[in-house]
Amino acid sequence: MSHTLDAPILVLADLDDAGHPTGAALELLAAARSLSPQAIALVLGDAAAASAVAPALATAGATRLLAAAVPALAGCAADAVAAAARAAGAAAVLVASDYRGKEIAGRAAVLLGSAASSDLADLRLGEGGDALTGTKLVLSGSWTTTSALALGGPAPVIAVRPGAYEAAADGIAELTPEALEVAPAAESAAVELVESDRSAAAAGPELTEARVVVVGGRGIDGDFDLVRSLAEPLGAAVGATRVACDEGWIERSAQVGQTGVSVSPRLYIGLGVSGAVHHTSGIQGAQTIVAVCDDSEAPIFEMADFGVVGDVGEVVPQMVAELARLRG
Ligand SMILES: Cc1cc2nc3c(=O)[nH]c(=O)nc-3n(C[C@H](O)[C@H](O)[C@H](O)COP(=O)(O)OP(=O)(O)OC[C@H]3O[C@@H](n4cnc5c(N)ncnc54)[C@H](O)[C@@H]3O)c2cc1C
Repeated sequence: MSHTLDAPILVLADLDDAGHPTGAALELLAAARSLSPQAIALVLGDAAAASAVAPALATAGATRLLAAAVPALAGCAADAVAAAARAAGAAAVLVASDYRGKEIAGRAAVLLGSAASSDLADLRLGEGGDALTGTKLVLSGSWTTTSALALGGPAPVIAVRPGAYEAAADGIAELTPEALEVAPAAESAAVELVESDRSAAAAGPELTEARVVVVGGRGIDGDFDLVRSLAEPLGAAVGATRVACDEGWIERSAQVGQTGVSVSPRLYIGLGVSGAVHHTSGIQGAQTIVAVCDDSEAPIFEMADFGVVGDVGEVVPQMVAELARLRG
């Protein structure tokens, strides 16, 4: 890319349960800095929460930090995003392309009177800087489309595919949070988060952000302890095929694929997964694919970088033992 924008890019920098910036938030800052020298991070929290994450956001490339003390639910988040985009004169807004991020993108774009697009990667400025383009995998990953969102008017809101950017670590700005007053709309304030209880299945990293994902399919025959025995030493998130979710072996939120979530890990390991296109459309962003399946004709082996034809009950314990041996 030969040129960058003069106007800033606004990034919704989500925090995790421990109050740290999510991996996706840090990646969004890298995406923003590839488009503009000014990357504004918006944190949903008070000044103290924002101060605590200022160094991490600065290292990842943020050049300004806004703090809006509103709940992180999608409605209030969208109100804050729209207010921040207007206040900062942002050229565009980036959010993470997960369920919540997509809802925020749609809501914020309506508030701003702008465009929204989701699951985009490889963002670039068009010639003349009057449009921002991004690519997206569609039709079960068999096509890549390029979309262009007009710049120069109300800021378009773009949900960026997690894993599409490497977080940077060379930012040098010293950030002092600036409080942004946001009055949530009545319909946003009407929804209150009463309780939040993370399921046991979701223990470990977020599926959509994880660097390593281990997926259990029908072939594990309900034994998700076997899947976790490999996921835990790898620091991996646990996912599932639709069949495994339909069987009630794991929560629906773990479903990867066309009607589940898309993942973009560096390493995907499928255990007892056949590789149906409805599933593999959700792993198109994976860099390395490993499959363990007892059917040598299973389609997963057509896209796998490494494959083991065998019984998961025999192969997985050997993988776990070898990992332990390598780590001494
Ligand atoms: C509209 C639509 C949307 C869909 N959306 C999704 C989606 O989002 N995500 C999704 O995953 N699916 C989705 N599906 C379902 C999809 O088409 C497949 O049916 C599903 O992905 C298959 O799951 P599986 O690989 O676990 O099961 P199977 O296809 O049954 O494969 C199981 C594999 O495990 C092997 N196996 C059995 N025992 C062992 C063992 N002991 N050790 C090793 N291997 C073993 C078998 O040989 C087989 O290859 C969708 C379907 C439709 C029609």
